[in-house]
Amino acid sequence: MGIYEYKCGDRHYLKSGLLPENEVVHGFTSAQGGVSRGRICGFNLGFRVHDDECAVRENYRLLAEDLGISLDRTVLAKQTHTKNIRIVTEADAGKGIVRDSDIEDTDGLVCNIENMALVVFSADCIPILLYDRERRVIAAVHSGWRGTVQRIGAAAVEVMEKEFGSRPSDIAAAIGPGIGPCCFEFGSDAPEYFDRKYLTEREDGKFLADIWRMNRDILIQSGLEPQNIDLSGVCTVCNSDKYYSYRTHKDRTGRQAAVIMLRVREF
Ligand SMILES: [Zn+2]
Repeated sequence: MGIYEYKCGDRHYLKSGLLPENEVVHGFTSAQGGVSRGRICGFNLGFRVHDDECAVRENYRLLAEDLGISLDRTVLAKQTHTKNIRIVTEADAGKGIVRDSDIEDTDGLVCNIENMALVVFSADCIPILLYDRERRVIAAVHSGWRGTVQRIGAAAVEVMEKEFGSRPSDIAAAIGPGIGPCCFEFGSDAPEYFDRKYLTEREDGKFLADIWRMNRDILIQSGLEPQNIDLSGVCTVCNSDKYYSYRTHKDRTGRQAAVIMLRVREF
């Protein structure tokens, strides 16, 4: 089924057929719809940008209603482009949304608790959702270029393996909207950070970097099966009318979210 669109009122989400609706709730939001109307318009889900907090809260209420999650069992991290992964426990329920969060310097959340929604944000960076259908473990990962270079996707898989006994071959991944190889310009120092196979050199000595494919390859190197990885292929810069794009909108950029939650399994 691949990546497909899901609409709720004027809000548009992307979902992956690899994350079955009867087992996990999930979605990648866009900037469309929502109630933010100031310097940042649309369906902004970032609290740490120049938006009215009431509007962001209303956007979260809409998100919760659309996907069927509960905000007092939703967990947000303070992302800082690290490769740090946090194992979310019951004690973290509601952090960052209904109460203060002490989850700092964290760019990946992992848990095996049902009805606990994990959220990461992005605006050009790559959001990744992971689901181990056998051990029932989920992860939400924020992988910008710094996270990609630090291989945060592999770090998340490693936590799933070591802490929860996941087998990589049981893990499905959905890579959401983010900056594509068409638009991700990097300076002449790109080869210091990226393998040449992810770079296209331009005439001006700068490079275009493909962090979609790099994130996908990192997951395959971690043991995921290629057919268990969905890549949205939606570039947030090319589609900056529909998505928040830091490179396009600068300080008028909101944040889209990637959300995942384990449903209670019905036997
Ligand atoms: Zn593009």
